[in-house]
Amino acid sequence: MRHRIYDSKYHFLTFFDDQTGAYLRTGILEDRKDTGVDPFMASFPHLIDVGIMGHCAHGKSGLCAKAGIGCYQSGRTVEAPNMALEDFAEIVRQCAGKVNQFALGGRGDPDMHEHFGEILALCREHHIVPNFTTSGFGLTEEHAALCARYCGAVAVSWYRSSYTLDAIQMLLAAGVRTNIHYVLGRNSIDEALDRLEHNTFPAGINAVVFLLHKPVGQGSRENVLDPDDPRLARFFALLDHNTLPYKLGLDSCTIPGVVNHCANLELAALDTCEGARFSCYISADLVMLPCSFDQERRYGVSLRDHSIQEAWDSPQFDAFRAPLRAACPTCPQREVCMGGCPLKPEIVLCRRSQRTT
Ligand code: SF4
Ligand code: SF4
Repeated sequence: MRHRIYDSKYHFLTFFDDQTGAYLRTGILEDRKDTGVDPFMASFPHLIDVGIMGHCAHGKSGLCAKAGIGCYQSGRTVEAPNMALEDFAEIVRQCAGKVNQFALGGRGDPDMHEHFGEILALCREHHIVPNFTTSGFGLTEEHAALCARYCGAVAVSWYRSSYTLDAIQMLLAAGVRTNIHYVLGRNSIDEALDRLEHNTFPAGINAVVFLLHKPVGQGSRENVLDPDDPRLARFFALLDHNTLPYKLGLDSCTIPGVVNHCANLELAALDTCEGARFSCYISADLVMLPCSFDQERRYGVSLRDHSIQEAWDSPQFDAFRAPLRAACPTCPQREVCMGGCPLKPEIVLCRRSQRTT
């Protein structure tokens, strides 16, 4: 099914295909003509990261740390209840007809939620495509069958373990569009280069999506990639000329690096940080944030007291948008990059003199 939404506040159209995940956004329209100017934001989020998990079933065992990944949600130390099914249903009710996709997440694997199947079904009943990322540690064939029935895509975090490979195979066998999510940091970029150069990610996957390491939660500052790291040039060259049998993707947090290293990629098809512009995060205890990496909740709005629309229109969300609107005014790539991450300037892969963030 194709969704077509006209944003009457900011005057642009979006199209979303819930079978393929294809998403198209026009420029700002005037007299039904595309002006070629991209809208800065939407009047309601198009994608919401819904943190249904309040705690991690595998946190105590230190699954992330053993895999060399610092959980940004501090799943090893923080225990909180998962999102209640009725709270999730209320989010769905407010989003129906406006939001295309939910990225289910939070502090743990969404497939471990006690109402996992009902949550997926609720999304589809309201024409919202659910996607999620899992470590794969507890994934069963029953979960994989639910994913095949309801999900757009499922990502398995690259934890370099037998359960990683087993989960990928289980999902592929069930016919699920399966991606790998790979956290890219100083400690993992060598392996990424080696696997891309020698094509050693598992066969049959749809894409490898690289997520830039951030110093949040248990993610360390030492592991943040330096913009001058010479390995980045090799990494972006591989992305710029992908000859692999699967797609390569990046989170929007990596866009400054793309802007500075890639000449071949179509920048018009990429978007920089979408936090509070086209996406947001809702935690298991119903606090809405521009981005899940705002773990200090500097920009949080409680959905116990406010609707999603009110949170989206709040002064907190506007304060988050302010640097994206104003950063790096003299940079020729300003419109594409907007200065990068408003939360953690130290992750921005840019050394240009025009940078103001
Ligand atoms: S706020 Fe930072 S971490 Fe969050 S999506 Fe934007 S760039 Fe990424
Ligand atoms: S100067 Fe600013 S807008 Fe330009 S590429 Fe660097 S971070 Fe992005």
